Amino acid sequence: MNLILLGPPGAGKGTQAEILSKRLGIETISTGVMLRTAIREGTELGTMAQEYINAGKLVPDDVVVGIVKERLSKDDCKKGFILDGFPRTTAQAEALEQAGVRIDKVLSLEVSDETIIERLSGRRECKDCGTPYHVVYKPSANGDKCQVCGGPLIQRADDNEETVKNRIQVYHEQTEPIKEFYQKQGKVVVAHGREELADTTREVAKALGLE
Ligand code: AMP
Repeated sequence: MNLILLGPPGAGKGTQAEILSKRLGIETISTGVMLRTAIREGTELGTMAQEYINAGKLVPDDVVVGIVKERLSKDDCKKGFILDGFPRTTAQAEALEQAGVRIDKVLSLEVSDETIIERLSGRRECKDCGTPYHVVYKPSANGDKCQVCGGPLIQRADDNEETVKNRIQVYHEQTEPIKEFYQKQGKVVVAHGREELADTTREVAKALGLE
């Protein structure tokens, strides 16, 4: 299955991508994780992306499209993939189509703006591997260390209140229209980001016809 996860920041895309990735045996491609890795490694891409990310703005389309196309051309994407955080503009969705990338389904994971703010303040992620956590809703079984790789859990620099406000605005203005783009193609299924992770996971599986 070639799947897109669409939804505002903090909807739980990363967490659901992780669960679906294991369940379906396919790779997750997260542009956010790729860009933060580049920042950590101090690459040219990272230096360029950092300014946009810290301001809550989108990194330019051609840059992001380039890194996604390269990643999708790898062998491990042949049996399917989950795109988390991409596309984020209609231009990115069109670029994917023009590159001949087949998309089977688009899962729209929906939560209110108030919920986003509450969730992002408690969000943490592994500094080393990017696995997402939440202090209340998805704590690590390994305390303040990542339960996957043992790395330290940190708060993302762009999860501060001011940046979050910009990210929500950017989401409504630039990313939400993508839903209509894929609705016209009959590919959108909807699930809601519930308070309990297990409830969200069940709803996602049902929306995707996995149970
Ligand atoms: P995320 O981890 O998906 O919330 O992404 C964090 C930040 O990375 C976003 O606020 C953007 O600045 C940048 N970013 C991630 N994915 C994209 C994308 N597809 N297009 C443009 N910018 C992106």
